[in-house]
Amino acid sequence: MDNSIDQIYQKALQELKAATDRQAVEDIRVRYLGRKGAVTRFLRNISDLPADQRPVAGKQANQCKKLLEKACKEAAENLETVEEPAVAGIDVSLPGRPAPSGSLHPITQINQRICDIFTQMGFDIAEGPEVELDYYNFEALNFPKDHPARDMQDTFFVSDDIVLRTHTSPLQIRTMEKQQPPVRIIMPGKVYRCDSDLTHTPMFHQVEGLLVDENVSFGDLKGTLTAFVHQMFDEQTSLRFRPGFFPFTEPSAEVDILCVMCRGKGCRVCSQTGWLEILGSGMVHPALYENVGYDADRYTGFAFGMGVDRIAMLKFGIDDIRKFFENDIRFLSQF
Ligand SMILES: [Zn+2]
Repeated sequence: MDNSIDQIYQKALQELKAATDRQAVEDIRVRYLGRKGAVTRFLRNISDLPADQRPVAGKQANQCKKLLEKACKEAAENLETVEEPAVAGIDVSLPGRPAPSGSLHPITQINQRICDIFTQMGFDIAEGPEVELDYYNFEALNFPKDHPARDMQDTFFVSDDIVLRTHTSPLQIRTMEKQQPPVRIIMPGKVYRCDSDLTHTPMFHQVEGLLVDENVSFGDLKGTLTAFVHQMFDEQTSLRFRPGFFPFTEPSAEVDILCVMCRGKGCRVCSQTGWLEILGSGMVHPALYENVGYDADRYTGFAFGMGVDRIAMLKFGIDDIRKFFENDIRFLSQF
């Protein structure tokens, strides 16, 4: 009798030791301690024993039952920690991990801001091809073949007559060919020049503007650009116009703004001059009107162009234009 309960107990312990998951432990528990389990049956049969053996056998059996229950519980707990790291790894009290969300590229943000300012003034947006005919990129804009002004722009030639546009100005011609004045457009887009250093990349972004109507004067140009700069930067940002040269405007002016970093005191960004060049502009050259069939005696207009990348550098305080195009997420996520 003693042997019998002890054998049952030892066998149960061995099986528990071999169990590899909680279900196996549960099966063992049922097989020994369940209603029809071996230990339960043993306890039930004690009443069949001779009266003098019953107390001892009962005591031993109950002890085995308790020990076995404890062993089953411990075996299940041990398996829980070993076997279920995936479930145990979910801590519902931890704060959630936010899914990373993208944002607009800084160039896109500045481009949209520039377009917003001008569309609020009544300009429409015009877009056109990046692979452009020489005629639209140069000739119709008063850059005759062999004109030295072509050397101002390091051009990517696709063929003798086809180029990657070096500016968005071809759209001035394309738009004027299609419609009569008044013309009020801004032309955002990618342009290409064979140039690469701290402040130049082979591809960059321009926004150009064109306004043609009756009685448009240089004063309108100054007013429009001043309003733009005040909205883009702030009301304290003053402008200065310097004589410049572009074949498609006459007179032409380069536009500087008071250095946004040092407010005119002189710093590294403005090369100690206190001014930053941000725009080229001028009154539309009458030769362009001839090319598109406008009456040059009746209409006047102005045009201006700016580098979006340059303005983004000034707005965000970036000193290397190439950072915009390396697409390092650590850089881009700051904007
Ligand atoms: Zn400065």
